[in-house]
Amino acid sequence: MKCKRCKAPAVVALPSHNTAFCEECFYLFFTKQVATAIRRQKMFGFEDRILVALSGGKDSLTLMLELALQGYDVTGLHIDLGIGESSVRARAKVEAFCEKHSLNLRVLETASVGLAMPDVKKYIKRPVCSVCGKVKRYYFNRIAREEGFDVLATGHNLDDEAARLFANTLRWDSSYLSDQGPSLPSAEGFVRKVKPLYRLTEFETANYAFLKGIEIHSDPCPYSQGASFTGHKQLLGELEHRSPGSKFAFYDGFLRNGRPAFELLEKEQGDELAPCRECGSPTSTELCGVCRVRMAVREKKAEAGESA
Ligand code: SF4
Ligand code: ZN
Repeated sequence: MKCKRCKAPAVVALPSHNTAFCEECFYLFFTKQVATAIRRQKMFGFEDRILVALSGGKDSLTLMLELALQGYDVTGLHIDLGIGESSVRARAKVEAFCEKHSLNLRVLETASVGLAMPDVKKYIKRPVCSVCGKVKRYYFNRIAREEGFDVLATGHNLDDEAARLFANTLRWDSSYLSDQGPSLPSAEGFVRKVKPLYRLTEFETANYAFLKGIEIHSDPCPYSQGASFTGHKQLLGELEHRSPGSKFAFYDGFLRNGRPAFELLEKEQGDELAPCRECGSPTSTELCGVCRVRMAVREKKAEAGESA
């Protein structure tokens, strides 16, 4: 198999694009896909300060490196959830990566704000992953807002986005459908959120990370109840196998034809938001979800005689 561009031996075959590339031409393809995403979705410019959410996985580290190589002003933010060895290893990978590439990094330990995940798991009677997701989204937004970043970037790829869209569509969940997209504008209390890898598949980001020698954190979280949307990803994977390009067509078609209608519907029916009385973050209730969890953990720990 030869590289479609330069005829050197190919290292990556991409059936959905009906092509194959050598290493250097694959990087050109990857860079072009990210640049197209940034331009078409008006994500950010070279003058913007970009905060990149870094979990330590392949997608977030790939995104950080690619944006830095393209010359953008990026700073990483890692949230240390305090989940034993798993969190220690994830943080070490992120720190080593940022040091190796001389990239700015901020780390927030959720234990320092009364939200260590082992406490949440022990004291809160809700699936730990749903609270964990909420806490991460809250602090990514809050730190971006408080520290004057223009935009928050996450490493979601096409497979993540298509699977999430599929799940939301199966339930016709209009509030989630209106909120799904690779570029969500800033609003009162929320910074702009973007997903510059949305045109690239998981396979493509994995190849990029591998070829660039990025050391990733890939151990499963001990609290994981199975990777999110695994079944949906498998179904879409089968569809893609039979009909290459259908995953992108599904997601891109939604962005063009479906999303505007759901945005309109949500404008008419969506909840009014006001600042949380504890932290000032936008919420539809008096206290935001994260402040409620924080208080509940503090109370339960006090009842159990543990220090907060
Ligand atoms: Fe958080 Fe659940 Fe992910 Fe673990 S698996 S990091 S608890 S969301
Ligand atoms: Zn709050």
